[in-house]
Amino acid sequence: MKRVALIGHPLGHSVSPAMQNAAFAALGLAWQYLTLNVPPESLPPALDELRRESWVGANVTIPHKERVIRLLDGLTGQARSVGAVNTIFKREGRLVGDNTDVAGFLADLRAQGVEPEAETAVVLGAGGAARAVACALASLGMGLHIVCRREAQGLALAQAVDRLAPVKIFPWTAESFRQAAGGCSLLVNATPLGMAPASRVSPWPREVPLPEGAFVYDLVYNPRRSSLVRRAQHEGLRASGGLGMLVEQGALALERWTGATAPRAVMRRAAVARLEALDVAVPDRR
Ligand code: NAP
Repeated sequence: MKRVALIGHPLGHSVSPAMQNAAFAALGLAWQYLTLNVPPESLPPALDELRRESWVGANVTIPHKERVIRLLDGLTGQARSVGAVNTIFKREGRLVGDNTDVAGFLADLRAQGVEPEAETAVVLGAGGAARAVACALASLGMGLHIVCRREAQGLALAQAVDRLAPVKIFPWTAESFRQAAGGCSLLVNATPLGMAPASRVSPWPREVPLPEGAFVYDLVYNPRRSSLVRRAQHEGLRASGGLGMLVEQGALALERWTGATAPRAVMRRAAVARLEALDVAVPDRR
């Protein structure tokens, strides 16, 4: 049986196995999508395991998206420009790293009716997902205000995108959030803050107003309406959680592994069913 792995640590209650296994079944493939809980020191042996013939590829998540690069045989142009890998596929036995978060994010933003233009976005976080978001927006000429708690991480991100668009880095303080919000038409949370089970947490300080008139996109998809999304909607802003991005990045990854068109509706239904099951399992999640 062919297998695909989700490599991360910790993996918690991931939605991807339900989504990908439903897609394999809908395509008539007797394939299995399995989670591999891999702490950082075990990443090299996990990649060796992936080289065995039964594995078709993998998804890569927290905290390995950047570190996995040096263990791969090649990268797509997208993965190279982002500096982070969320999908591994095989070409003639070689492990190739790709990044489907960029296209997944942009596709969902557009599905929400947001057309990023030559404006400015505030992005929270500077990790793997923030890199994908920043590359996506900068490639469209959007200026970036990155708010992050480690300056070195922010500067490394800026270095990856500042040839495409202007980038400013802000420290993680209430005053910086206030400054970074100025003139921004889009706010993207690319930190895990607000993710279940800590779903009452918001990355945006309570005492700082959200950017006026902005669209708020939270990459967190569990819970489906995060604390940040609920606040934005309560204040009359348009806002979305990251479920649409999750489905699209997964669909694009599946297309790399199988060569088939992904059954997106099936994947979305499976992801929603899994999230609803998790919600029932932990009643105080909202
Ligand atoms: P990551 O590489 O670990 O980066 C997380 C970023 O958030 C880092 O800059 C990290 O800073 C920062 N951060 C974490 N905790 C923080 C805190 N308490 N205060 C301030 N900053 C904090 O993770 P990632 O892969 O980018 O994922 C980030 C989030 O996006 C996760 O919730 C993930 O599930 C979500 N995501 C969603 C999708 C989707 O399809 N919807 C796709 C990708 C990712 P440090 O490095 O200093 O910790």
